[in-house]
Amino acid sequence: MLKFKKVLSMLVIFLLTISLVACGQDASGGKKTSGDNGKDSKTQGDDTLKIGLSVTDLSLERWQHDRDIFVEKAKELGAEVIVQSADNDESKQLTQIQNMLSQGIDVLVIIAVNSDSLSPVVDQAKKEGVKVLAYDRLVTNSDVDAYVSFDNVRVGELQAEYLVKKVSIGNYFLMGGSSTDNNAKLFRKGQMNILQPLIDKGDIKVVGDQWVEKWDANKAMGIMENALTANNNKIDAVVASNDATAGGAIQALDAQGLAGKVVISGQDADLAACQRIAEGTQTMTVYKPIKTLATTSAEVAVKLGKGEKIETDDTINNGKKAVPYIKLDPIMVDKDNLVDTVIKDGFQSYDDVYKNVPEGERPARP
Ligand code: BGC
Repeated sequence: MLKFKKVLSMLVIFLLTISLVACGQDASGGKKTSGDNGKDSKTQGDDTLKIGLSVTDLSLERWQHDRDIFVEKAKELGAEVIVQSADNDESKQLTQIQNMLSQGIDVLVIIAVNSDSLSPVVDQAKKEGVKVLAYDRLVTNSDVDAYVSFDNVRVGELQAEYLVKKVSIGNYFLMGGSSTDNNAKLFRKGQMNILQPLIDKGDIKVVGDQWVEKWDANKAMGIMENALTANNNKIDAVVASNDATAGGAIQALDAQGLAGKVVISGQDADLAACQRIAEGTQTMTVYKPIKTLATTSAEVAVKLGKGEKIETDDTINNGKKAVPYIKLDPIMVDKDNLVDTVIKDGFQSYDDVYKNVPEGERPARP
C-alpha cells in the first residue's frame, strides 16, 4: 500500500511537471514569457533571443523557402523564432504582430502584406524596445531599423531587358503585382526604365496595364483572358512581375494556343516556373538567391537583438527615414542558364525541373 502511494505521488509530480512545461510552450516550440514584454523574462534569467517572423503568405512557394532558411540560421545563431503567416490579409498581420509582441519577442521581422499599413505596430514595437527588420518588402513611413532585400528596381529591369531583346517591336501587356506591395512598384519602376524609351520611340505599344490583387494567379489568368479578348489576341509580350502571376497568364495564353509564342517574364524561380521555362512556355524568370537573403536577415536580426551595429552600403528612404539597406543582386534566368544557376545552387532539383522534358532533349546534368 505504501509503495502504491509512493508511486502515485511520483506520478502526480511527474504529470504536474509535464503540464507546467507544456504551458510554457507555444506552437512553434518557443518559450512563452510572463508579463507583457520579453524584456521582463530576460531579466528573470531567460536570455535566449526571441524573434517574431511575420510572413505575408506561406502558401506561395518562395516564402516557404524564406521561412525554412531563416529559422534554421536563426536557431544556429542561438535564437528562437515564432513564425506566423498572415495569409495575405493585412488586418490579420496586424493582429498577429501584436500577439507576437505580447509574447515578448526581442526582434520583429516583417514581410509586409501592405507596406503602407504597418507603421502603428512598428511604433508599438519600438516603444517596447523591440527592434524591427523589414524583410524583402520595405515598410514605409515607419522607424524600421534595417531592410534586407534585393535590388528590386533591377529585378524589373532584368525582366523588361530580356523581353525587349526578344521582341523589340510590338504590343506589350503589363501585369503588375499587388498594388499594396512596395516591391511591386519598384519592379514596375525598373520595367519602365527599359520600356519607356521604346514606347516614346513608338516601337512598343502598351496595350494594357494592371495590378494583380494579392499577386493571385487566378486573378492574373482572368486579367490575361480579358486582355487577349480586348486585343483580338494581338499581344506579343507580357511583362509579368512574378512567377505566380506569369503562371496564371500562361494558362490564359495556352487556352488561345499562344503559350510559348508570346514572350513572358517572371520572378522567383518557383518550381512550376522553372518547369515552364524548361518546356518553353515561360521565357525567363528572375532568380533571387533566397538563401543569401534569409541567412543575411537572420544574422541581422540577431545582431539587432544583441544591440550590435549593422553595417550597410546603402540606405533607402521609406518616407520617414533613410533605412539601412542590404541590397542583394538578382539573377536573370532563361532556358540556357537554368542548370548553371537555380539548379547548381540547389534551389530546385534537376529531376524536378526536367520531369516533363523527354530524356534526349534535356541539357547535361550539373
Ligand atoms: C516578392 C516576390 C514575390 C511577390 C509575391 C514580392 O514582394 O519580392 O518575390 O513573388 O512578393 O509574394
